[in-house]
Amino acid sequence: MARLPGFDLHMHSTASDGALSPSELVAMAVDAAVEYMALTDHDTLAGLAEAQQAANDAGLTLIPGVELTCLWNRRVLHLLGLGIDPDYPGWKDYEARLAELRVTRADKIARKLVARGVPDNIIELARAQAGDGQIGRPHFARALLAAGVVSSENEAFDRYLGQGKPGDVKAEWPDIVESIDIIRKSGGFSILAHPTKYSLTFSRLRLLIAELAKSGIDGIEIGCPNVSRDQVGLLLRIADTLDLKISSGSDFHNPDMTWTRLGRFPAVESDRHLIYDFIRR
Ligand code: AMP
Ligand code: MN
Ligand code: MN
Ligand code: MN
Repeated sequence: MARLPGFDLHMHSTASDGALSPSELVAMAVDAAVEYMALTDHDTLAGLAEAQQAANDAGLTLIPGVELTCLWNRRVLHLLGLGIDPDYPGWKDYEARLAELRVTRADKIARKLVARGVPDNIIELARAQAGDGQIGRPHFARALLAAGVVSSENEAFDRYLGQGKPGDVKAEWPDIVESIDIIRKSGGFSILAHPTKYSLTFSRLRLLIAELAKSGIDGIEIGCPNVSRDQVGLLLRIADTLDLKISSGSDFHNPDMTWTRLGRFPAVESDRHLIYDFIRR
C-alpha cells in the first residue's frame, strides 16, 4: 500500500452541530495537513457549497458528504454518505423532511425540559445556538450552559439530553433503507458511522452489520477516535467477511473538545479503505 495523504472523512460545521464554519474547517484542515476532507453535517448539505469554494481556493479535495440520522428496527443509527452529488434532485425533499422532523423534535425537547424546571425560554436559546443550521441536542446542551442550568455540555447530556433522559426525544427518522437509497442514487458510498457507539455487544454489532450489508450499505467506519486496537481488529474482520469498505474520520465538532482534532484517528491499514476510491477519482 502506498503512503496515504492526510485525510479526514467525518466532520461537522455550523450547518449542523459543529462550532466552525465550513471555510474555517477548510483552513483548519490545511493546518493539519489534511488533503482530502469530507464535510458530513447531520441531515443537511447546506455547508457543502461554502466548503467546496474554500477547498478550491486552498487547493484541497473536498469530498461532499452527509451524516444521515435514520432508524433500523426502531434503533437510531448514523449513516455517512460520502462522495455524494449535492445537486442530486432528491436531496431537496429529503433535507426538508429532516429539517421539519428536527424542528418539531426541538419543540418537544423544549417542553420536556421546561417540565423539568428549565427556564421557559430554552427553545429560543437553543434556536439561537443553532442559527441557520439543523437544530439538534448539542444546541440544547449549549443553551443549558448559557442559561446557567449546567456547568458543561457534558453535564447537559448526562442530566437532560443523553440516552434515556427527558430530552432524548424520539423522532420518526427515515428508515435506513431510504437513507441507503438516496446516498446510492446521488452517487455516494453509504458507511455506518462509529459502530462502537450504539451500546451493542460485539456479537449483536456483528449481526447488525450483516443485516445492513444485506440491505446494501457499502461499508463501516473503523478509524474513529476512541476505538481500541482490539475493536479495530474485530471490525476489520467483519468488513473482510462481509466484503465491506472501511472509512475513517475524526467526527470533529469543536476545537474545545480537545480529544478530537482534524485528521486524527487510529490508523487502519487495509486496501478496503474508501480513501483509495477518492484518490483514484
Ligand atoms: P441529535 O442529532 O440532535 O440527536 O444529536 C446528536 C449529537 O449530539 C451527536 O452527533 C453528538 O454531536 C452529540 N452527542 C450525543 N451524545 C453526546 C454526549 N453524551 N455528550 C456530548 N455530545 C453528545
Ligand atoms: Mn454531532
Ligand atoms: Mn454520529
Ligand atoms: Mn458525526
